[in-house]
Amino acid sequence: MLHIGCHLSAAGGYRKMAQDALSIGADTFQFFTRNPRGGSAKALDPADMAACAAICKEHQFVPLVAHSPYTLNPCGSEARVRDFAEMVFKDDLEILENLPGNYYNFHPGSHVGQGVEAGIDLIVKLLDRVMKPGLKTTILLEAMAGKGSEVGSKFEELREIIDRAERGDELGVCIDTCHIYCAGYDVVNDLDSVVAEFDRIVGLDRLKAIHLNDSMQPFASHKDRHEKIGAGTLGVEAIRRIVTHPKLKDLPFILETPHDTLEGYAREIALLRQS
Ligand code: FE
Ligand code: FE
Ligand code: ZN
Repeated sequence: MLHIGCHLSAAGGYRKMAQDALSIGADTFQFFTRNPRGGSAKALDPADMAACAAICKEHQFVPLVAHSPYTLNPCGSEARVRDFAEMVFKDDLEILENLPGNYYNFHPGSHVGQGVEAGIDLIVKLLDRVMKPGLKTTILLEAMAGKGSEVGSKFEELREIIDRAERGDELGVCIDTCHIYCAGYDVVNDLDSVVAEFDRIVGLDRLKAIHLNDSMQPFASHKDRHEKIGAGTLGVEAIRRIVTHPKLKDLPFILETPHDTLEGYAREIALLRQS
């Protein structure tokens, strides 16, 4: 069975997200732990999180994906930016201890002119400060499109972060189909080679989730604009090959496609469940 869900609004709380997921035929979902463009988290409500966990357990959901805010940049050039990233990262991981066994996905960050190697140094430093022994959450590095000075658009960069972090053995990776296609990995015409390359450089055992998006932008454009499934440069057939690929098909797939309503996601989930 295909494991699939979408990004949901956390505005109504955790229980509401689990119910929304059920209502659209999903068995996982993604959410922001806090305002994605700011930093403030809502007051912690452990009962609400427990109610969510109970629904997920009852309906045999696969792991959920919490997404860090876009404003979190572990490799910013200013100490203020990096301190904020560390504060938010730690706080998010603490919140997620109330929802054990799930994922925390983050963008490795933008080095803003310091260079990739300096960026990786800073990302590793942040991970070394926040990855405490016994964490109940698996941290995922998201593969990026390489827009501006984004780190993590090459599999080698993800590998280097994993290798250099003290607890790198515990890190996972989330591939975003829109991002890697725009980064120059041709998942449309040569999916098998991309999967083999990921396996060789990072290792498929590290791959924990896939953000399933079509793209408004062309191959290798290093741009990051998600499109609805079938309406972009990947196309529905390429996306079907991704969700049915023998090495990928059992992963949780998260739609981050632009829809204003749950019905849009319900339609995409139904379409892909027919794959
Ligand atoms: Fe993301
Ligand atoms: Fe994504
Ligand atoms: Zn994106």
